[in-house]
Amino acid sequence: MRKIVIAGNWKMNKTVAESVKLAGEVVAAAKDIKAVTVAIAPTYLALAKVAEVVAGSNVKLAAQDVHWENQGAFTGKVSADMLKEIGVDFVIIGHSEQRTYFGETDATVNKKVRKVQSLGMTPIICIGETLDERKSGQLESVLTRQVNGAYDGLSADDALRTVIAYEPVWAIGTGVTASDDEAQEAHAFVRGLLAARYGDSVAQSISIQYGGSMKPENAAGLLAQKDIDGGLIGGAALKADSFLGIVTPGETLSK
Ligand code: PEP
Repeated sequence: MRKIVIAGNWKMNKTVAESVKLAGEVVAAAKDIKAVTVAIAPTYLALAKVAEVVAGSNVKLAAQDVHWENQGAFTGKVSADMLKEIGVDFVIIGHSEQRTYFGETDATVNKKVRKVQSLGMTPIICIGETLDERKSGQLESVLTRQVNGAYDGLSADDALRTVIAYEPVWAIGTGVTASDDEAQEAHAFVRGLLAARYGDSVAQSISIQYGGSMKPENAAGLLAQKDIDGGLIGGAALKADSFLGIVTPGETLSK
């Protein structure tokens, strides 16, 4: 059985006060949600305050990134121990914005995944192709490189403690969503990569989220796909009602 995991990535949005308010609204709206794991990822600055808001609720806390070293001269960065201390459950790693603007590579993704796992937090490993890569027939080679890079050196037990977010870069923040079939095809391919590394039973147990302009209007169709186990949500996560409009259809699913 795979968990449906729906996570809101707030990116560089919301002040601390706004984050606390939105977190409170999500906690209230999600209080009866049981079958779906719900998580929210505010900015680093708001994490500690939001941790207080979600404490004791069924909403998990996620961070948007992490550094792989414990401490030291890494200006602007935050370590996994710091995230752990305030109660972070999930850490988003390798988001396409990190890869595009801040030099994230498959190798740094792998270091971050290992670090986060060593402290018992769950990485949400983001992968996905650009439009050029898709158009030039590189979808499968890109996903293969990203998955193999992220999982390099991870045992089957480690792999079971990961979540993948398949996010076609051309769909992130654009309003253009992959069709249900396009998304399912990519997810099935990714699950096949996991099966090749770890066997079918492990691959069948790893949740693979879809990300890219997911919203209440298209969530049910995407989430109904056999290999889509939730969503990583940007824009639609910035309001409690649109976020919960994505979470709710997941309640009826079991995979
Ligand atoms: C994201 O940030 O991972 C994302 C999918 O954003 P959006 O939902 O806005 O496309």
